[in-house]
Amino acid sequence: MARYTGPVCRLCRREKMKLFLKGAKCDSTKCPIEQRPYPPGEHGRGRIRESEYMLQLREKQKARRIYGVLEKQFHNMFVEADRQSGVTGENLLRMLELRLDNVAFRAGWGASRSQSRQLVRHGHVSVNGKRVTIPSYQVKRGDIVELRTKAKEMIVVQHNIDTLDRSTVPWLDKATEGKSVTVRDLPLREHIDVPVRESLIVELYNK
Ligand code: SF4
Repeated sequence: MARYTGPVCRLCRREKMKLFLKGAKCDSTKCPIEQRPYPPGEHGRGRIRESEYMLQLREKQKARRIYGVLEKQFHNMFVEADRQSGVTGENLLRMLELRLDNVAFRAGWGASRSQSRQLVRHGHVSVNGKRVTIPSYQVKRGDIVELRTKAKEMIVVQHNIDTLDRSTVPWLDKATEGKSVTVRDLPLREHIDVPVRESLIVELYNK
Protein backbone atom coordinates (compact mmCIF):
# COMPACT_ATOMS: atom_id res chain seq x y z
CA MET A 1 0.00 0.00 0.00
CA ALA A 2 1.91 2.95 -1.29
CA ARG A 3 2.19 6.27 0.43
CA TYR A 4 4.30 9.40 0.17
CA THR A 5 7.48 9.04 2.25
CA GLY A 6 9.35 12.22 1.32
CA PRO A 7 9.75 15.42 3.37
CA VAL A 8 6.32 16.47 4.58
CA CYS A 9 6.76 20.16 5.35
CA ARG A 10 7.86 20.78 1.77
CA LEU A 11 4.32 19.88 0.74
CA CYS A 12 2.88 22.71 2.84
CA ARG A 13 5.46 25.13 1.52
CA ARG A 14 4.64 24.06 -2.02
CA GLU A 15 0.97 24.91 -1.38
CA LYS A 16 1.97 28.09 0.50
CA MET A 17 -0.27 27.20 3.41
CA LYS A 18 -0.36 25.01 6.50
CA LEU A 19 -1.81 21.61 5.64
CA PHE A 20 -1.36 20.36 9.23
CA LEU A 21 0.38 17.13 8.28
CA LYS A 22 2.64 16.75 11.32
CA GLY A 23 0.51 16.98 14.44
CA ALA A 24 1.91 19.07 17.32
CA LYS A 25 4.72 20.62 15.26
CA CYS A 26 2.15 22.36 13.07
CA ASP A 27 0.96 24.54 15.96
CA SER A 28 4.44 25.29 17.23
CA THR A 29 6.99 27.91 16.21
CA LYS A 30 9.00 25.09 14.61
CA CYS A 31 6.61 24.99 11.66
CA PRO A 32 8.88 25.77 8.67
CA ILE A 33 6.18 27.71 6.86
CA GLU A 34 6.42 30.38 9.55
CA GLN A 35 10.04 31.06 8.60
CA ARG A 36 9.94 30.25 4.89
CA PRO A 37 6.46 30.92 3.54
CA TYR A 38 7.45 30.37 -0.07
CA PRO A 39 7.70 27.23 -2.24
CA PRO A 40 10.80 25.04 -1.79
CA GLY A 41 13.61 24.83 -4.30
CA GLU A 42 15.95 27.16 -6.12
CA HIS A 43 13.16 29.08 -7.84
CA GLY A 44 10.76 29.06 -4.90
CA ARG A 45 10.99 32.81 -4.43
CA GLY A 46 10.88 33.59 -8.14
CA ARG A 47 7.86 35.04 -9.90
CA ILE A 48 5.38 32.37 -10.94
CA ARG A 49 2.76 33.06 -13.62
CA GLU A 50 -0.56 31.81 -12.34
CA SER A 51 -2.35 30.05 -15.17
CA GLU A 52 -5.80 28.50 -14.92
CA TYR A 53 -4.23 25.06 -15.19
CA MET A 54 -1.83 25.82 -12.36
CA LEU A 55 -4.65 26.85 -10.03
CA GLN A 56 -6.54 23.66 -10.81
CA LEU A 57 -3.43 21.53 -10.37
CA ARG A 58 -2.61 23.13 -7.02
CA GLU A 59 -6.12 22.43 -5.67
CA LYS A 60 -5.86 18.79 -6.67
CA GLN A 61 -2.40 18.44 -5.15
CA LYS A 62 -3.56 20.15 -1.97
CA ALA A 63 -6.49 17.73 -1.54
CA ARG A 64 -4.24 14.74 -2.22
CA ARG A 65 -1.67 15.92 0.28
CA ILE A 66 -4.13 16.72 3.05
CA TYR A 67 -5.65 13.24 2.88
CA GLY A 68 -2.39 11.44 2.00
CA VAL A 69 -3.63 9.85 -1.22
CA LEU A 70 -1.38 9.10 -4.17
CA GLU A 71 -2.23 10.19 -7.71
CA LYS A 72 -3.61 6.96 -9.11
CA GLN A 73 -5.85 6.25 -6.15
CA PHE A 74 -7.04 9.85 -6.17
CA HIS A 75 -7.93 9.64 -9.84
CA ASN A 76 -9.80 6.38 -9.24
CA MET A 77 -11.76 8.12 -6.49
CA PHE A 78 -12.61 10.93 -8.88
CA VAL A 79 -13.91 8.43 -11.47
CA GLU A 80 -16.10 6.83 -8.79
CA ALA A 81 -17.28 10.26 -7.54
CA ASP A 82 -18.18 11.22 -11.11
CA ARG A 83 -20.15 8.00 -11.55
CA GLN A 84 -22.27 8.67 -8.46
CA SER A 85 -25.31 10.92 -8.58
CA GLY A 86 -24.97 14.43 -7.15
CA VAL A 87 -22.21 17.01 -7.39
CA THR A 88 -18.94 15.32 -8.37
CA GLY A 89 -16.66 17.58 -6.31
CA GLU A 90 -18.73 17.07 -3.17
CA ASN A 91 -18.89 13.33 -3.78
CA LEU A 92 -15.10 13.29 -4.02
CA LEU A 93 -14.61 15.18 -0.76
CA ARG A 94 -17.17 12.97 0.97
CA MET A 95 -15.31 9.85 -0.16
CA LEU A 96 -12.06 11.30 1.18
CA GLU A 97 -13.73 12.11 4.51
CA LEU A 98 -15.15 8.61 4.80
CA ARG A 99 -11.76 6.94 4.56
CA LEU A 100 -11.11 4.94 7.72
CA ASP A 101 -7.84 6.75 8.49
CA ASN A 102 -9.63 10.08 8.26
CA VAL A 103 -12.40 8.87 10.60
CA ALA A 104 -9.71 7.86 13.11
CA PHE A 105 -8.22 11.35 12.70
CA ARG A 106 -11.59 13.07 13.13
CA ALA A 107 -12.19 10.97 16.24
CA GLY A 108 -9.01 12.49 17.70
CA TRP A 109 -7.07 9.22 18.00
CA GLY A 110 -4.18 10.38 15.85
CA ALA A 111 -2.44 13.75 16.01
CA SER A 112 -2.27 13.78 12.22
CA ARG A 113 -3.85 11.81 9.40
CA SER A 114 -0.59 9.91 8.92
CA GLN A 115 -0.55 8.86 12.58
CA SER A 116 -4.17 7.79 12.27
CA ARG A 117 -3.27 5.86 9.15
CA GLN A 118 -0.57 4.04 11.12
CA LEU A 119 -3.09 3.11 13.81
CA VAL A 120 -5.26 1.54 11.12
CA ARG A 121 -2.36 -0.22 9.38
CA HIS A 122 -1.20 -1.70 12.67
CA GLY A 123 -4.62 -3.20 13.32
CA HIS A 124 -5.68 -0.93 16.18
CA VAL A 125 -9.05 0.00 14.68
CA SER A 126 -12.16 -2.09 14.13
CA VAL A 127 -15.31 -1.46 12.14
CA ASN A 128 -18.48 -3.10 13.48
CA GLY A 129 -16.32 -5.34 15.68
CA LYS A 130 -14.02 -6.53 12.88
CA ARG A 131 -10.38 -5.48 12.61
CA VAL A 132 -9.78 -3.45 9.43
CA THR A 133 -6.23 -2.60 8.37
CA ILE A 134 -7.00 -0.77 5.13
CA PRO A 135 -6.65 3.04 5.56
CA SER A 136 -8.72 3.73 2.43
CA TYR A 137 -11.63 1.56 3.66
CA GLN A 138 -14.86 3.52 3.14
CA VAL A 139 -17.07 3.63 6.21
CA LYS A 140 -20.82 3.74 5.76
CA ARG A 141 -23.72 5.32 7.56
CA GLY A 142 -24.34 3.45 10.83
CA ASP A 143 -20.85 1.90 11.05
CA ILE A 144 -19.29 1.74 14.51
CA VAL A 145 -15.57 2.51 14.38
CA GLU A 146 -13.71 1.60 17.54
CA LEU A 147 -10.22 1.40 18.97
CA ARG A 148 -9.27 -2.19 19.73
CA THR A 149 -8.42 -3.25 23.29
CA LYS A 150 -4.64 -2.72 23.08
CA ALA A 151 -5.01 0.70 21.43
CA LYS A 152 -7.41 1.88 24.13
CA GLU A 153 -4.54 1.61 26.59
CA MET A 154 -1.88 3.19 24.39
CA ILE A 155 -0.39 6.31 25.98
CA VAL A 156 -0.11 8.14 22.68
CA VAL A 157 -3.78 7.58 21.87
CA GLN A 158 -4.95 8.63 25.34
CA HIS A 159 -2.69 11.68 25.14
CA ASN A 160 -4.22 12.65 21.80
CA ILE A 161 -7.77 12.19 23.08
CA ASP A 162 -7.00 14.27 26.19
CA THR A 163 -5.02 17.07 24.60
CA LEU A 164 -5.99 17.56 20.98
CA ASP A 165 -9.30 19.18 21.79
CA ARG A 166 -10.52 18.38 18.29
CA SER A 167 -14.13 19.40 17.93
CA THR A 168 -16.37 16.51 16.96
CA VAL A 169 -17.62 16.66 13.40
CA PRO A 170 -21.44 16.66 13.22
CA TRP A 171 -21.60 13.40 11.29
CA LEU A 172 -19.82 11.35 13.99
CA ASP A 173 -21.17 10.42 17.41
CA LYS A 174 -18.53 9.75 20.06
CA ALA A 175 -18.98 7.08 22.77
CA THR A 176 -16.97 5.19 25.40
CA GLU A 177 -14.92 8.25 26.39
CA GLY A 178 -14.06 9.04 22.79
CA LYS A 179 -12.71 5.57 22.01
CA SER A 180 -15.55 4.67 19.70
CA VAL A 181 -17.46 6.65 17.09
CA THR A 182 -20.61 5.94 15.11
CA VAL A 183 -21.07 7.32 11.62
CA ARG A 184 -24.39 9.04 12.21
CA ASP A 185 -24.71 10.44 8.72
CA LEU A 186 -22.74 11.08 5.55
CA PRO A 187 -20.79 14.35 5.76
CA LEU A 188 -22.20 17.35 3.90
CA ARG A 189 -19.91 19.87 2.21
CA GLU A 190 -20.35 22.40 5.02
CA HIS A 191 -19.10 19.78 7.49
CA ILE A 192 -15.80 19.34 5.61
CA ASP A 193 -13.42 22.06 6.73
CA VAL A 194 -10.55 21.43 4.32
CA PRO A 195 -9.41 24.51 2.34
CA VAL A 196 -9.98 22.96 -1.09
CA ARG A 197 -12.00 24.32 -4.01
CA GLU A 198 -13.23 20.99 -5.33
CA SER A 199 -14.78 22.53 -8.46
CA LEU A 200 -11.27 23.27 -9.74
CA ILE A 201 -10.32 19.60 -9.31
CA VAL A 202 -13.36 18.59 -11.35
CA GLU A 203 -12.41 21.09 -14.06
CA LEU A 204 -8.88 19.71 -14.12
CA TYR A 205 -9.93 16.10 -14.56
CA ASN A 206 -12.59 17.01 -17.11
CA LYS A 207 -10.14 18.74 -19.45
FE1 SF4 B 1 2.92 21.89 7.40
FE2 SF4 B 1 2.82 21.08 9.90
FE3 SF4 B 1 5.16 21.10 8.57
FE4 SF4 B 1 4.01 23.36 9.32
S1 SF4 B 1 4.82 21.76 10.65
S2 SF4 B 1 4.88 22.96 7.34
S3 SF4 B 1 1.81 22.88 9.04
S4 SF4 B 1 3.36 19.84 8.12
